Amino acid sequence: MAIQFSKIKALFLDLDGVVWHGADPIGDLSAIFRKIAKMDVLPLIGTNNATKTPEAYCEKFAGFGVNSMKPEYIFSPAIGAASLFREKYPADVKIHVVGSDALRAYLRNAGFALVPDGADIVLASLDRELTYDKIAVAQRQILNGAEFYATNRDPILLSEDGIKPGGGVIVNAIETCSGIAPTVIGKPEPYLIRAAMHAFGLTNGEILAIGDRYDTDILGGLNAGCPTALVLSGVETRESIAKFDREPDLICADLNEAIDRLYAGKIA
Ligand SMILES: [Mg+2]
Repeated sequence: MAIQFSKIKALFLDLDGVVWHGADPIGDLSAIFRKIAKMDVLPLIGTNNATKTPEAYCEKFAGFGVNSMKPEYIFSPAIGAASLFREKYPADVKIHVVGSDALRAYLRNAGFALVPDGADIVLASLDRELTYDKIAVAQRQILNGAEFYATNRDPILLSEDGIKPGGGVIVNAIETCSGIAPTVIGKPEPYLIRAAMHAFGLTNGEILAIGDRYDTDILGGLNAGCPTALVLSGVETRESIAKFDREPDLICADLNEAIDRLYAGKIA
């Protein structure tokens, strides 16, 4: 089905491989985001990275001359987890986090009780200070009946200094020793994009999901029923996506081309 460009009111943008490679912007971000603003399209962000706060992302955007980014535009699994836990559990639910300080701070600020042990929920994410003990503590709580969640299962992370292990590695370790598969909050599951729709009163046909990875970004968009655009500035190539059944609606060299095609589609 062709995208109905006139309907698009928001983007759901992945970051690494789409907007930047670590510290390097992909294209003239200031110009690209001015074009997005000119179309009156919201630049919402859907990232599986829960190690940075929304404010830290806004600062990074500002460093590239993009001043239109707002903390409320950013949907990470931290935000997705908070909205899902609020919906599913009583207010005094106890959460144990294996993850970053930023993730912990976000949940604490959202009003959740974080505990070192005896939790109702174990939430696993990228933890750059992972230890054997941390895995053992998570394992014990899950075996004692805590529900197991993961921010994402990304196998790798493209960081400032190259390819690194992603959050999925930590999740897999806990899954292996507990024998329990987690409920995943990040892409390709639909929780983040649904949280964005809910927050901005959008329907799935009004959001264009843009990403560089098929099995998270594009599949996440498809799972939510949104039109999708794959950019070839990150991990995928035309050859690497040939194995997937459903093609993205658009395949573009980079974000700049995706935005130009959206613009051309809107004025057509
Ligand atoms: Mg990416």
